[in-house]
Amino acid sequence: TYAKISLDLQPLMDILKDPNERQGYAWIRMRISRMWSRWTDAVKSLMSKYSFRNRPKQKILVHLGLLSKQSGWKFAEMQFKGGPLGELVQWSDLITTLYILGHDLTITSEVEQLVEILNHVPAARTPCQSRKELPVQMIYTDIMGLIQFKKRLKVGYAKFSCLFRVLDSFGTEPAFNHRVFAKQNKILTSWGGQDLNLQQFYTMFPHSPDNSFMGFVVDRILNDTERSAEPKRNIALVYGKNDYMWQGKRSYLDSIHARFEVHGTVYRENNKNLVNVPEYVVNHGILSGLDLHELLQKTKVFVGLGFPYEGPAPLEAIANGAVFLNPLFTPPHSSKNTKFFKGKPTQREITSQHPYAEVFIGKPYVYTINISNKTEVEQALDVIAQQTNFSSYVPYEYTEEGMLQRMKAYIENQKFCSHQESAHEKWPPAESVTHILGEAGKSCKDACWDIQKICEPNHFAELNTVQGIANVTWCSSLTQSSNIYYPAVEAKEKVCTKQAEPRLFSCVGSMHALRRLCPCRDFIPGQTALCVGCD
Ligand code: UDP
Repeated sequence: TYAKISLDLQPLMDILKDPNERQGYAWIRMRISRMWSRWTDAVKSLMSKYSFRNRPKQKILVHLGLLSKQSGWKFAEMQFKGGPLGELVQWSDLITTLYILGHDLTITSEVEQLVEILNHVPAARTPCQSRKELPVQMIYTDIMGLIQFKKRLKVGYAKFSCLFRVLDSFGTEPAFNHRVFAKQNKILTSWGGQDLNLQQFYTMFPHSPDNSFMGFVVDRILNDTERSAEPKRNIALVYGKNDYMWQGKRSYLDSIHARFEVHGTVYRENNKNLVNVPEYVVNHGILSGLDLHELLQKTKVFVGLGFPYEGPAPLEAIANGAVFLNPLFTPPHSSKNTKFFKGKPTQREITSQHPYAEVFIGKPYVYTINISNKTEVEQALDVIAQQTNFSSYVPYEYTEEGMLQRMKAYIENQKFCSHQESAHEKWPPAESVTHILGEAGKSCKDACWDIQKICEPNHFAELNTVQGIANVTWCSSLTQSSNIYYPAVEAKEKVCTKQAEPRLFSCVGSMHALRRLCPCRDFIPGQTALCVGCD
């Protein structure tokens, strides 16, 4: 059967009823209802541009491991009490996307529900047969959920593993994903070693092309043309839901207070006093989505404190015409020097609180500054305080339409199970890819970006052959090795090295003196995940 676009909200709300009374889905339901009309407008707009016919209807299981009792994270309990919401933003938008695109959804968040579904799986006879009998064709979960699956699956995890799409905010790099390699190099952590296809990890921002960029939708109550926006007032709104995030920032906040009325949305547990929030701050407590956006409409500057990393809120502020003050990190934060990133399966270095805002958006919407440098802070604040015109901006890939376009393409074209692969239908297609020789010391991610292209890990294999290498460079000799730096050529002696382990193909691997051989693809402006013609 084929998938039909669904424009009716009620059946989705019924799927999201709370069977376990923990109100786990309450915040998700609120977000989906609030944004519903925008979603339906977006899909109608897409339908006027593309054919939505003949799309196979997929049976999809969505398992939110983060909400399970077993996770011990209390996401469900904390959703209205200052707990992290970025993940719930992403789950809400994923669920909405899959539903609107017309697929058949089952949503679970408790291990018992999962076990019940999986118990109905008939025992496998041959690998081929068993797959046809699976109750679902795709499984969206998170790493917590994945670990729960592995523990409970009676009929064997291996045959399910190609069905997974794993929501992984910060991303997983090849060296950490490959269990044996990670162990040998002493970087195996409880989040890594999953041995999946790296494109099965779906990230919140386009960190590295090794993973799939899933993203989310930037919520906004109005845009410049829909209604005349609320006039700006002289307000600075501080980004920090919890008192501890404000610690040690007094002098920075004082500079802001000298020019703006300072507001906050800080959670107060049992009305306890806030010790780190200055007395001059107008605190609203945690606000509902609508109230927060009304406040952002009146806000001139949204003030980053350095934590939380890479959340949705700065993009919402920019979408409401506020300038984001983005703390610069020198040196960058990473698993090497920052507790928060310890154990995360990535060596990525975070150059500021919000690298996406820094790199992909920038001035006049984002000022990335050293917040301990008073002069630098005051200069930026003076420019913003004198500004009379505040325009809003949402990158296309963070709109409802952009997310629907991207996810539709993934669902139809990403094939992770070996029985689905076929030589002719490689995606993205070879025509969108060029092979290049990067500069010494550069990763393929950076080498491709330098020529306005994106590293395309699905096309390393063709490059990693005697002929493929010869097309790009001359070699004095050819060897092979299993490490994230290959294929590459050594800059001086011209010794070429092939990749011996396809699961270690990496866009981010780099080593000085090595020139990487890189597959780079083109992309749709505003939609970096898709090649030109891949929409
Ligand atoms: N948010 C909210 N009320 C508030 C503060 C934040 O509804 O008082 C929402 C905000 O609009 C955003 C989400 O919480 O969509 C996540 O915010 P943040 O960037 O702080 O990320 P987190 O650290 O929670 O993952």
